[in-house]
Amino acid sequence: MISVVVPAYNEERNVDTLYARLREQLRARHPEWELVFVDDGSTDGTWDRIVALNAADPRVRGVRLSRNFGHQSALLAGLAAARGAAVVSMDADLQHPPGVVSELLEKWQEGYQVVNAIRIDTERVPRWKRWSSRVFYRLFSLLSGVDIAPGSADFRLLDRQVLDEILRFKEEGLFLRGIVHWVGYPTASVKYQCGERHAGESKYSLRKMLRLAWHGVSSFSLVPLRIGIFVGLLSSAIAFFGVIYAIVGWWLDNDVIPGWASSVAISSFLFGVLFAFLAILAEYVGRILVEVRGRPRFLVRETTRASAPVERLRARPVVLDASGDARTRTAG
Ligand code: UDP
Ligand code: MG
Repeated sequence: MISVVVPAYNEERNVDTLYARLREQLRARHPEWELVFVDDGSTDGTWDRIVALNAADPRVRGVRLSRNFGHQSALLAGLAAARGAAVVSMDADLQHPPGVVSELLEKWQEGYQVVNAIRIDTERVPRWKRWSSRVFYRLFSLLSGVDIAPGSADFRLLDRQVLDEILRFKEEGLFLRGIVHWVGYPTASVKYQCGERHAGESKYSLRKMLRLAWHGVSSFSLVPLRIGIFVGLLSSAIAFFGVIYAIVGWWLDNDVIPGWASSVAISSFLFGVLFAFLAILAEYVGRILVEVRGRPRFLVRETTRASAPVERLRARPVVLDASGDARTRTAG
């Protein structure tokens, strides 16, 4: 079976269309599939639409979170609920064309376990989005050594084996785009042209984007912390030579060293730098605190009626044998 996971936050006018297009796509070549919608605390009729779809076609399942946890957490909730041998994640707004799903599946059938869909930047993508994505990925690879292609988003296919590994990562603020590279496995990519948002407005506010960027950097790189060491050493060296210069000047012409204004400027500059690094340090400490608290990354309020295959699975509890492989317990 193939799963498609879609986080949706106030997307009531998109879920039906997405379902219809995906069904068209999958019908031809992949008879067994499921579509998992995660309602990320929507305040509009998104959940009602999902429930209606589920009633009409039990291959559509819904997971409703208790509030808005953000795109990454909603995605994670969907990935955890998916049961397919291959799991495709995509956006609800049809910017990720359903037609590309077949291409992802083709690559998977060729043996690739991770297939990323990479956006080709066209005029249709807002200029600042193209620009910010390029700058961010360049900076990210510089800081972390993990190369993410510009135009990557969370439109990809994961093989069951890879997904199960990723689901074991319990870190808060999991940056899937980075983790997917980190885990390795045979990876392919497919290019696509980003469509227009079908209905509604972007749910990714600048605040949410910055948060995502920071989670990405702080969970993959310690370089921001280390920059402090270099700046500290450099400014100490400069200060050291400054002192030598002052002593030598005093020795030679026994004069007062001028430069009151410049020393104030330098010391306030260095104080600024100091506080900036304190703030970076504090951010990392904050991340540690969040990690130590270990709160769940999302809470489920309800799910749609479980369809038959789940019931059958439930009836036969899965046990782990000595090698750690899942096996279905037989009678007795
Ligand atoms: N989304 C979500 N929770 C949020 C924000 C966004 O589940 O807090 C979903 C949204 O419904 C969509 C996907 O994440 O399916 C991408 O969001 P959007 O299209 O608004 O982002 P953009 O394409 O503008 O970057
Ligand atoms: Mg979008």
